[in-house]
Amino acid sequence: MSALSEQNQSTRAPVLLWFRDDLRLADNPALTEALRSGRPVVAAFILDDVTANFRPMGAAARWWLHGSLKAMAKALLALGARLHFLRGSALDLIPKLVEQTGASAVVWNRRYGEAERAADSLLKERLKEGGIDARSFNGHLLYEPWEVKGKAGGPMKVFTPFWRAARELKEVPLPLSAPSAINCWSNAGIELPNAMALDDLQLLPASPNWASEMEALWQPGEAGARVALKRFLAEAVDGYGEGRNRPDRRSTSRLSPHLRSGEISPRQIWHATRLHEQAHADGRSSYDHEKFLAEIGWREFSYHLLYQAPDLATANFQQRFDAFPWRDDDAALRAWRKGKTGYPIVDAGMRELWRTGWMHNRVRMITASFLIKHLLIHWRRGEEWFWDTLVDADPASNAASWQWVAGSGADAAPYFRIFAPVLQGEKFDPKGDYVRKYVPELAQLPDAWIHKPWLAPHPILARAGLTLGKEYPRPIVDHDAARERALAAFKSISTESAS
Ligand code: FAD
Repeated sequence: MSALSEQNQSTRAPVLLWFRDDLRLADNPALTEALRSGRPVVAAFILDDVTANFRPMGAAARWWLHGSLKAMAKALLALGARLHFLRGSALDLIPKLVEQTGASAVVWNRRYGEAERAADSLLKERLKEGGIDARSFNGHLLYEPWEVKGKAGGPMKVFTPFWRAARELKEVPLPLSAPSAINCWSNAGIELPNAMALDDLQLLPASPNWASEMEALWQPGEAGARVALKRFLAEAVDGYGEGRNRPDRRSTSRLSPHLRSGEISPRQIWHATRLHEQAHADGRSSYDHEKFLAEIGWREFSYHLLYQAPDLATANFQQRFDAFPWRDDDAALRAWRKGKTGYPIVDAGMRELWRTGWMHNRVRMITASFLIKHLLIHWRRGEEWFWDTLVDADPASNAASWQWVAGSGADAAPYFRIFAPVLQGEKFDPKGDYVRKYVPELAQLPDAWIHKPWLAPHPILARAGLTLGKEYPRPIVDHDAARERALAAFKSISTESAS
């Protein structure tokens, strides 16, 4: 008998199942706990953009959330349960829901931002004071961020030992099964306070609808997540170790937005990958599978960092970067956002982001490095833009990755490693297919010039129908000069911290 079913057994009072970043039926510990109690379930989602210190979701992530909630509501309905949508402060609305439904317990899966943790603790306290059983579970991570410890017993700052310690800590538990039916609370005519239709949450863009290409590309929801994982294991995990660097191929899983909304759990990914590895065992394949699981490890590490530095999205992890001489340059920031820097691989990435809500990891590194090191614009401006435009915008991974590129983070890339956009383009998009897809004005350029149009001889440009400065800009900064400037800026804080 589960903990919930032991209490208030006679009452048959319902259990309130509060969905958040866990929009799935399978491997959902809070859902499993609610069902184990044998009591009727009230399922609710609250769009909380009013609680102090909650960071409002970006526009692309809101678009994704709409699709994810729609899929979740449909899946629940197929099992006989209704998902109630509400908007407002969860701290106010959860107690109201408890009162209206007569629920004697509330269950949810944890979130790890500081403001969310504080709100959850306060709510738990209040519910318990009112005699309501409140329980939370880990549905988001393989390891709780506080579980993995270094040799001295403290938090860890370097990925490799972190990942080793995590793996030694415990086996990843098997995922929980999805239910085949849900004993749903019948509202018997009671209308819940603030309940509304999904559309009234106003998560979708109004006019213009900038998401039309995204609609064709993505399938938010648990079923879409399963398809993405299956496809990745069938088509791309073999060779992932090398292939993952190629933006011109579909070489990665594209699971990030599904993970962000919790439509799939890292435990499910872990075990499906292990099963696939066992079925296709050879030395090479094991390397590729390990490499993929290590990326899931980077996600874990990002949450470990967020837990030890809750202001990861706004403050340098390494304080010496507080003195860094950043530049304000609105024109350059605008050119970067719009994909008009004159560096084709950077522009292709920024336009992929705008059109699809996603960008390949290699190109995220190149575009981030360009903003920070070539333009000397604060990494926070980039983090904010990604936050608003990524469908996978994640409080831990986005902040940790920006700081990683800036050199200000934990286990970060050294500041003096400055990506040369032309070389990066030629190496990872050798035929220019990626650039041609997202920067169509360059499509007619031969491969040899696609990553450096400003160096192409005039007749080649003319044949490609291109006048630089007209259809496509000249580079907004010179690479060599920008590199020297960045190194000098870095030296200034290195000297300051040394003196
Ligand atoms: P795969 O290569 O298939 O990897 C599988 C999963 O591992 C991903 O879905 C993701 O959950 C995780 N993962 C992979 N690489 C990383 C990484 N470097 N750090 C943390 N987790 C990782 N990822 C986000 O999920 N949300 C973000 O907001 C985000 N912002 C980023 C910003 C910058 C500047 C950079 C350089 C990287 C960022 N990443 C972010 C990490 C990474 O780029 C994406 O997770 C990855 O591109 C998603 O594509 P995928 O699912 O095909 O990845």
